[in-house]
Amino acid sequence: MADACIFCKIVAGQIPAFKLLETELIMAFLDINPLSKGHCLIIPKRHCQVLTDCTDTELQEMLPAAKRIATALGGQFNILQNNGPMAHQDIPHVHLHVIPKPNIEEGLKMKWSPLKVNMEALKQLCDDLRRLL
Ligand code: AMP
Ligand code: ZN
Repeated sequence: MADACIFCKIVAGQIPAFKLLETELIMAFLDINPLSKGHCLIIPKRHCQVLTDCTDTELQEMLPAAKRIATALGGQFNILQNNGPMAHQDIPHVHLHVIPKPNIEEGLKMKWSPLKVNMEALKQLCDDLRRLL
């Protein structure tokens, strides 16, 4: 547990949360500043700062939990997971957002600004990345 981490404190029961489900490795609870009704967070119980710090086993429990909750909520939704402050991560403990999208006004809003790329550069990038995997 990281001492100053709000989500570690939720896991430890030191601060309250509206808990939806829990396993040995993960927990899900309602977001207290929801973008829409039902907005919730799924976290590994172990303190992991960013997704790449999680074990595959932790990650393997998070997505099915998101599926269960999204199924219960019904309707359209976004899954969001931010890594690093520049990438809009405010709480440095990994969390998957499940954000219902009931209408245009509520839920996640995105500004999507694609880069201009050519196919040759994309092919080169693909080859470079494949060598690193
Ligand atoms: P992010 O910007 O991806 O780090 O999102 C952090 C999320 O955590 C925000 O949506 C907050 O509303 C939410 N949040 C912060 N503190 C709490 C808390 N004590 N209980 C539930 N959600 C929280
Ligand atoms: Zn933590």
